[in-house]
Amino acid sequence: MSAPSLDFDPSTVSLPRGHFIGGTYRSTNEAQIAVHRPSDGQLLGHIPDASAATVDEAVSNALQAWKTSGWATQPPRERAKVLNRWADLIDHHAVSLAQLETVSSTRPVAEAHSSDVPFTAEAIRFFAELADKLGGDFAATRRDSVGFIASEPYGVIGAIAPWNFPLSMCSWKCGPALAAGNAVVLKPSEMTPFSTLRLAELAIEAGMPPGIFNVVNGRGATAGAAITRHPDISKISFTGSTRTGAAIMSDAALHGTKPVTLELGGKSPQLVFEHLTDLEYTARCIVRGFTSNGGQACVAGTRLIVHKRVVEPLLESVQSQLAKIVPQPLWQSTSSYSPIISRGQAERIDSLIAESLASGAELIAGGSYFENMEGGYFLRPTLLVNVSASTPAVREELFGPVLTVQTFEDEDEGIALAGHPTYGLCAGVHTRDIGQALRAMRRLAAGTVWINRYGRSGDMIIPTGGFKQSGIGKDLGRQALEASMRYKSVLIDFDRM
Ligand code: NAD
Repeated sequence: MSAPSLDFDPSTVSLPRGHFIGGTYRSTNEAQIAVHRPSDGQLLGHIPDASAATVDEAVSNALQAWKTSGWATQPPRERAKVLNRWADLIDHHAVSLAQLETVSSTRPVAEAHSSDVPFTAEAIRFFAELADKLGGDFAATRRDSVGFIASEPYGVIGAIAPWNFPLSMCSWKCGPALAAGNAVVLKPSEMTPFSTLRLAELAIEAGMPPGIFNVVNGRGATAGAAITRHPDISKISFTGSTRTGAAIMSDAALHGTKPVTLELGGKSPQLVFEHLTDLEYTARCIVRGFTSNGGQACVAGTRLIVHKRVVEPLLESVQSQLAKIVPQPLWQSTSSYSPIISRGQAERIDSLIAESLASGAELIAGGSYFENMEGGYFLRPTLLVNVSASTPAVREELFGPVLTVQTFEDEDEGIALAGHPTYGLCAGVHTRDIGQALRAMRRLAAGTVWINRYGRSGDMIIPTGGFKQSGIGKDLGRQALEASMRYKSVLIDFDRM
């Protein structure tokens, strides 16, 4: 029996509204922000722009729930039961969540259903399983004393998320924070607020105490800044651009010297050496690496650094694969290519391409939009050659399906070109020479190195996070749970009792 089609009519999807505070939807009279459907630019609905008073109400609810609900003090395995039920509910509502994600973000429905929704549930399950595994340490001290390091939750964690994978980003932020016993106030991106609200509703259905997970909507400069600055928020976990990350870090320093986890931007290389096991496969990695989600992934592999001897056949294969890409509305199950999130973002990409061409780059594919896509900005996959480190498209994170191509003749030159002065999020290395792969891995300043693949797997045990201006700290992995706790050092002189 074939799987049922995931095609749906976007006008039938109902949208949650308002904020989610204290276990219930909360509407306010605040200024409204229009939210558009990226696939065709249609107006989807509005969300309120939370004032500092609304953020304060959410934080008060969170703090009160954290102090009184028993969430923080119960055995971690009891929290894990709630988190596991939450993950089960997410799986149970996979179709409706995928539809909600598709109408309000750049995610094609089949991918939302086969990866975003199950990976969201998996991330929550991973942290539920880890909840009672990391408790602290016993210290080597004098023999007449006992020293230990006890972990405890911070209290209320403020989380601020980007628009590119709304469901997953919510689970990466909330999974570790909640498993560690914190309460959370999360602000999704003002461009993609809806699926996060629905997740908060499901958390209540799973038995999470009201107030432990709150969602406030609004813009960064208002709602986001109010979260960062709130005196009762003890830690900030942020994913977004490097520029915003720096503003948040400075705000968090000025308002309580709060610790921050920052998952920021990237400009990641795909380094292709001369000797490959399978050139077609490598070309597929390159294509997927820079076109997935329309290139709007922090990890997008947007700089191809390729050995001179393989550049021609590799580009030929890349171009023949790109020629097969046909965009469709995201609510058709066969759709797999994403539009640029907004007109403003499309204009930014256009101007960076224009500046790159003005500086001597040559366009060998793309550079224009697919026609007849009814208001959606589906940029053709774009290839730029004759570029250097100073070309805008090499230097800047474009957040679109644009690949620059640079060539090299020996290993040292290739590794040097793969480095970037600003970013160090991830890197792909393609070679059949294990020594070469490991030398490159050691020398590349990147938080993740993929060898003979490009992109994350569903293994939540593998943390993600950048070096340099790509971030501080990690999401996922046990590192994310550890970063959601603070550590208390205890020393007992037991002979004095
Ligand atoms: P962005 O920085 O514009 O916004 C991210 C979030 O921050 C939004 O919710 C926004 O409202 C909020 N915000 C903006 N200004 C703020 C302020 N002054 N104070 C508090 N909050 C503020 O990023 P974006 O355009 O939504 O997302 C794309 C960026 O996210 C890219 O740079 C991408 O590389 C990065 N990203 C990184 C990772 C990672 O794991 N490293 C993952 C996904 C996305």
